[in-house]
Amino acid sequence: MSGPDRRFSFEFSAPKNAEAIEKVKSVHKKLVKLNPHFFSVTYGAGGSTKEGTKQAVLDINKTGSEVAPHLSFGGDDEAKIEQLILDYRNAGVKRVVALRGDIPSGMGSSTNIAYANQLVEFIRRKTGDHFHIEVAAYPEIHPESTSVKADLQYFKQKVDAGANSAITQYFYNPDAYFRYLDDCTALGVNIPIVPGIMPITNFRGLVRFSHNCGAEIPRWISKHLQDYENDPQSLKAFGEEVVTNLCQRLLDGGAPGLHFYTLNQSLPTLRLWRNLGL
Ligand code: FAD
Repeated sequence: MSGPDRRFSFEFSAPKNAEAIEKVKSVHKKLVKLNPHFFSVTYGAGGSTKEGTKQAVLDINKTGSEVAPHLSFGGDDEAKIEQLILDYRNAGVKRVVALRGDIPSGMGSSTNIAYANQLVEFIRRKTGDHFHIEVAAYPEIHPESTSVKADLQYFKQKVDAGANSAITQYFYNPDAYFRYLDDCTALGVNIPIVPGIMPITNFRGLVRFSHNCGAEIPRWISKHLQDYENDPQSLKAFGEEVVTNLCQRLLDGGAPGLHFYTLNQSLPTLRLWRNLGL
């Protein structure tokens, strides 16, 4: 896909207190200069950051930037989620990221879990075509999936329910992404699937997070990061080089854009942006 048709977006982690809300505002101020297609704000597992997410979304929306709240049923009933969706619609928000969401620890399988396709259907039923709906995709397969085939079928269900585009879990192996695109095309799924990009700025946090979400850190990357564990400057420089090369390969291979997980920091994303000459 050629330059102007590609889309770039930046994700913020849901702020949990007033200080974090201010932090999101200040990082947004720096990143908005890059003129991304949209920003998004995550939703804490089980709806635990409902207020913080909403506040950050409405703050960003007021500045004129396009913004997408992440949303899941979490532990809430339909009436509560419908109200939240209508509040967003009435504020002029036009895009949402519809998810099953992470299951908060302790809730286990006893909770009545709504899969993301059910939320997509719900949003379409309540608000028609108002929202552009993004869903999650997993080139390295969702950790709870029983098989690659089942995972792809469930992804297709979300698209059939009305999703317009998808953002992937992060990965460091571009072949997994390109293979995923081929598999989707073979199933007749043709929505844009935008790679999620996780900058590498520390080792332990990345290992922990990757383990939980099923993202693989290739051995050669992991070994380098381990060596640099007590040398944060070298670690960041190495991480920046690896992720810049990854982004370049994805764009050269036809990715429809990039979605950066900012973790509420501007610098790593700004540096990748500059390196890529975007
Ligand atoms: P689903 O698509 O519903 O899939 C969940 C699992 O169930 C998969 O294994 C799938 O194969 C399987 N499955 C799907 N449908 C069915 C069915 N009908 N029957 C049986 N099995 C089924 N988490 C948060 O809590 N907050 C966020 O803001 C957030 N943002 C994210 C943004 C992106 C771009 C991505 C990639 C992930 C995000 N996550 C977030 C993490 C996500 O919520 C977790 O990965 C979660 O475990 C799955 O969510 P999902 O929407 O992909 O679920």
